[in-house]
Amino acid sequence: MIVVMKPDATGAQIEHMRQHIASLGMTPQVITGQHQTVIAALGEERAGLAEALEPGEGVEKVLPIMAPYKRASSELKRERTVVKALGFEVGGKKVAVIAGPCSVESEEQIVSIARKLKELGATALRGGAFKPRTSPYSFQGHKEKGLQMLAAARAETGLAIVTEVMAPEHVPMVAEYADVLQIGARNMQNYQLLQAVGDSGKPTLLKRGMSATIDEFLLAAEYILDRGNPNVILCERGIRTYEEHTRFTLPLATVPYLNDKSHLPVVVDPSHGTGKAKLVAPMSKASVAAGADGLIIEVHEDPEHAASDGAQTITPAAFGQLMAQCRRIAEAVDRTM
Ligand code: PEP
Ligand code: MN
Repeated sequence: MIVVMKPDATGAQIEHMRQHIASLGMTPQVITGQHQTVIAALGEERAGLAEALEPGEGVEKVLPIMAPYKRASSELKRERTVVKALGFEVGGKKVAVIAGPCSVESEEQIVSIARKLKELGATALRGGAFKPRTSPYSFQGHKEKGLQMLAAARAETGLAIVTEVMAPEHVPMVAEYADVLQIGARNMQNYQLLQAVGDSGKPTLLKRGMSATIDEFLLAAEYILDRGNPNVILCERGIRTYEEHTRFTLPLATVPYLNDKSHLPVVVDPSHGTGKAKLVAPMSKASVAAGADGLIIEVHEDPEHAASDGAQTITPAAFGQLMAQCRRIAEAVDRTM
């Protein structure tokens, strides 16, 4: 339920309603808007709740939140959420660009590519230290040493670090090095992991599970938000379909749909979404045109010899061209890049 307070409601009336909601066994969340305050009553809804809230002094109206996800819903919060980490910002006018290799391979590799990417306009550095690989025989990442290599690249360039955390017990360690925690597609419904990153309060990039519906995706975000962490970035990275011409199918209608249903920023991953280096630039342009708040792109100086995901990885030169093209699209949709 959403309790909409009158524009002239007093602080005491707002506080009274907050306590009243708590006394009914719901969790109150006060959202102070420019014109009026609304208080969300979150929890399991039951009959008679609206009737218990409507008579409160200073209350204008009580509305149900129709979506199954509540805190993630634009019904609850209309203003867009801007997530900030170090100098990195996503959800504002400027389109964010997270770029870097699939895996962190060595300190020289990550520092060198970070310098180039910064120069070319990337706003954050990606790189996996813990890698969720389909085969147990594939490179699993340098783990904590990889995190230290990322920290060295940040010290060198000032770029914020986006890196994956795979297990709840690793959250404190990864959070020590990362600026943004990434939850991979394969872990989107690992509820203990979602709660652990929620508890950490760290900005989190949540990737859509490859077989998750949008409602399931937003309910996964809700787990993080529900632990008091408002800094969630949604990432469309492609889904599994019967198609075989691309690694996954990248549904860009997700972008305007999420922009309508949620206030959370939306980032697109055209690298995993297509699995093909050639398709990364066109799908990046399409993502910006569709209203994405950011891109996450795999870049490596020698994609043919990348430790993982080489086929979908572009070179710094191709990344530079992609940036130049996307900037023109950004301008056309009143964004900067
Ligand atoms: C990645 O970003 O390298 C990755 C493993 O992505 P996803 O979880 O989307 O497959
Ligand atoms: Mn990858």
